[in-house]
Amino acid sequence: MKSEFQRLYQQLYRHFGSQGWWPTTPPGETRPRYYPGQVGRPLSEDEQWEIAVGALLTQNTAWRNAEQALEALHRHGALALQALAGLEERQLAALIRSSGYYNQKARRLQHLARHVATHHQGELGRLLDGPTRAVRAELLALPGIGPETADSILLYAGGHPVFVVDAYTRRICSRLGWVGEGTGHAALQELFMKHLPAAAALFNEYHALLVRLATSYCRSRPQCAACPLRRWCRHGQGQDH
Ligand code: SF4
Repeated sequence: MKSEFQRLYQQLYRHFGSQGWWPTTPPGETRPRYYPGQVGRPLSEDEQWEIAVGALLTQNTAWRNAEQALEALHRHGALALQALAGLEERQLAALIRSSGYYNQKARRLQHLARHVATHHQGELGRLLDGPTRAVRAELLALPGIGPETADSILLYAGGHPVFVVDAYTRRICSRLGWVGEGTGHAALQELFMKHLPAAAALFNEYHALLVRLATSYCRSRPQCAACPLRRWCRHGQGQDH
């Protein structure tokens, strides 16, 4: 099984190349930018915070909608932690409208910002510097932060070796024939982490590649004929007949 997890990664990397996650916005620009081939580069405090905000904004929506909300926050000088924490909730909700569920997300963002301001001297990096298990528990205790969001923040902002599992991961693994459709988040995460070396750079690229596969070929209606995994995917092979 170990080789299957590594083989999947190699196949995806060979086909798609580095995904450059997580995109962050360079100073003086408003649009988040990908950094192909720079997985694992050191992040600034601003970048860590932007990633956490992006992880909340992309809940239940496509990244392009979260990206628009990030751009709006940038344009209005409202992305920085203190600025975001100080906004009126309805102002923040209006700025992030493109991301959907904007009232709920505004509340969640302000909870996170105020928590970091109160308990970590306004620096997300201080929170993320703790042991993985403790940081994860602290994030999960905040409103609206579930396992997928917490793990995204841990991995992409904090560099913790935690494999991010989402609905795309479950869909792909189920179609490959590795797990049942009802496999839970923790079981799926454990499976990846058990069969791969605990390396943040690998987990970073792997999750990004799975998302790329799910949005390019393994969609709700899969495009198996063109998919690079077709020859060894159980669902894809079934499409031959
Ligand atoms: S072959 Fe089809 S079902 Fe299998 S991973 Fe590719 S798109 Fe998904």
